[in-house]
Amino acid sequence: MRQPLVVGNWKMNGSLGQTSELLASIEDNINDKIGCEIGVCTPFVYLAAAIKLQSSITIGAQTVSEYASGAYTGEVSADMLSDIGCYWVLVGHSERRVLFNEHDQQLVLKAKAAQQAGLLPIYCIGETEKQYKAGETFEVIAQQLNYLLADSDVDLERLVLAYEPVWAIGTGLTATPEEAQKVHAFIRQLVAKSSASMAKKLRILYGGSVKPDNAALLFEQQDIDGGLIGGASLDAEAFLSICQKA
Ligand code: PEP
Repeated sequence: MRQPLVVGNWKMNGSLGQTSELLASIEDNINDKIGCEIGVCTPFVYLAAAIKLQSSITIGAQTVSEYASGAYTGEVSADMLSDIGCYWVLVGHSERRVLFNEHDQQLVLKAKAAQQAGLLPIYCIGETEKQYKAGETFEVIAQQLNYLLADSDVDLERLVLAYEPVWAIGTGLTATPEEAQKVHAFIRQLVAKSSASMAKKLRILYGGSVKPDNAALLFEQQDIDGGLIGGASLDAEAFLSICQKA
């Protein structure tokens, strides 16, 4: 059985005060109806404060350097994140791929650096609107995933995948549950070619405008093991309502 997981991606939002307030209001309102694991990825500068709150919510970063140390001004290494008690790290979020030109080879290095430091990467893949409209979703997903699967140093047991159609992120558009399920099943089949037992255990999250009113149908799908939530994770009530559906 795969334990459902819901992770909030706060992106570049909030302040020190808001970080504590939002985390406290999530933590204080976790109830018996919520059976999923919950994570939150805060901006780098608020990680230490979030971790110090010692709630049941596990804390993650939104990106990481592929390098171990050295002259990489502005970068943050996996060891540094691990050192302060970070648990997750997002790798390959589409905003990193599109706005900061992060590419597949580099993202595999980031995932490996994260794993070597003891972090759990949440590795994001997904097609753009243009690719979706051209019917290239499965081709794009296979290409992105194959970079990861081809590297024997990547430990699939210590990784979560997130399928996030780029056209659904922050747009209010979502893949239909059936559409999302088809892609998730395809991802699991691809992973099964590397290891059938790993494919059964691997958690695959869906991300892209998940809200309280569409979460249940998405999370009901056989191969959807929870969600990566952007906008709705900045509101404790909405985020918890989504968690309750996982
Ligand atoms: C995201 O940033 O990963 C995301 C899914 O955002 P949103 O939920 O706002 O679409």
